[in-house]
Amino acid sequence: MLIRTIQHLIEAGLVHDATALDAVAHKYAIGITPAVAALIDPADPDDPIARQFVPDVAELVTTPDERADPIGDLAHSPVEGIVHRYPDRVLLKAVHVCPVYCRFCFRREMVGPHGLGTLTPAQLDAALAYIAARPEIWEVILTGGDPLVLSPRRLREIGERLARIEHVKIVRFHTRVPVLEPERVDMAMVEALKASGKTTYLAVHANHPREISDAARRALARLADGGIALISQSVLLRGVNDNVETLASLMKAFVENRVKPYYLHHPDLAPGTSHFRLSIEEGQALVSALRGRISGLAQPTYILDIPGGHGKAQIGASTISVGDGCFTVRDWQGVDHPYPPST
Ligand code: SF4
Repeated sequence: MLIRTIQHLIEAGLVHDATALDAVAHKYAIGITPAVAALIDPADPDDPIARQFVPDVAELVTTPDERADPIGDLAHSPVEGIVHRYPDRVLLKAVHVCPVYCRFCFRREMVGPHGLGTLTPAQLDAALAYIAARPEIWEVILTGGDPLVLSPRRLREIGERLARIEHVKIVRFHTRVPVLEPERVDMAMVEALKASGKTTYLAVHANHPREISDAARRALARLADGGIALISQSVLLRGVNDNVETLASLMKAFVENRVKPYYLHHPDLAPGTSHFRLSIEEGQALVSALRGRISGLAQPTYILDIPGGHGKAQIGASTISVGDGCFTVRDWQGVDHPYPPST
């Protein structure tokens, strides 16, 4: 059963004290798939999967630095459904619905049953016309919402229309579906994702190694075997993955399943999410600890979306400094070395 209400959460045994949760449900959408519910240990009050999806009264606290549009999508949206922040790529947000609703979501004011909905046919026409009219657009990133909630037929239609735009070479999908609703990724879905005929990437969002279940592994294998390049994105979250063991297991699980670790996001300033946020110093220490711990193949890039729509910046601690005519380079054990070497 899809869990969509506080009553559903109580019936599933995922909430014991619903006091004040109605107020949370009134503000932010709830969504838990059967696959996610099966991953939760209801006996563990600190379960890292529950923390991502079960509403919490802490969400009623909005701090002064939080904002409805934390990464500034609206400032770069020339037509409905398009975000054009960098010259060579656009986001195409065809849908603002997800199979699950993450409690830390950076677009939580836009997604869900009361969010921005799905583009109308006229809005989709306008969005695709915007892309077609700009030869500098090399990559189209379907996000939202989660584009894989669309049926294979709808995804195929969008792909076939992108196929007719010669200057678009890369189509990328950002999704939670292969991990949290893996049964949706059947061969019809895999074929629909490739309908553009362009080089196709799929960025899988997962934050804890338990999310990479056996069913998720099979879904990822169907995508990889189907010729779709897989990359990851994760959010660094207090109480979910804020320790080096969990992050190392997650990144290794991605690589074992042919998913190249890509971004580890510092959590955005979304409303009601301060209980998830670490300091940047804590994040840098975790990412530095990963360097010595796991293969270079498994290293993500630690990234911050600069509030206000100014784009992404890499925020991992620097391993190089300059002074007195030479560089100092820090190794994986934290030891500094001059470069060029003095002897
Ligand atoms: S799947 Fe993405 S867009 Fe949807 S609720 Fe989670 S973080 Fe937000």
